[in-house]
Amino acid sequence: MSTRKWSPVKDLALQRMKYLFKLALEEARRRRYNLASRYVELVVKYGHKARVKPPRYIRRGYCRKCKVPLIPGLTARVRIQSEGKGSRVVMTCLRCGWIRRFMIKTSKRK
Ligand SMILES: [Zn+2]
Repeated sequence: MSTRKWSPVKDLALQRMKYLFKLALEEARRRRYNLASRYVELVVKYGHKARVKPPRYIRRGYCRKCKVPLIPGLTARVRIQSEGKGSRVVMTCLRCGWIRRFMIKTSKRK
């Protein structure tokens, strides 16, 4: 798939990031938000250290401001606004009010 060289360090960092993010989600579900955001901070730190970009679900899955994992209905409010070409997702962090918008493309037809 990727033409880049396989790097054990990056691979390990990625595994750790995924694992830590999973822990962060679990803690958030237990409403231990301080612990949850500590885990997310670690995920971000690992990413910088190993120069690995976290997978998209992680990048979009936490609040950039208070680092809490965004779980719809618990820590985040998700609204979808439909527009001509695609839809816009608006995520609001319920803990600090941070708002994130991103576009999602509707299925391509050829
Ligand atoms: Zn927040």
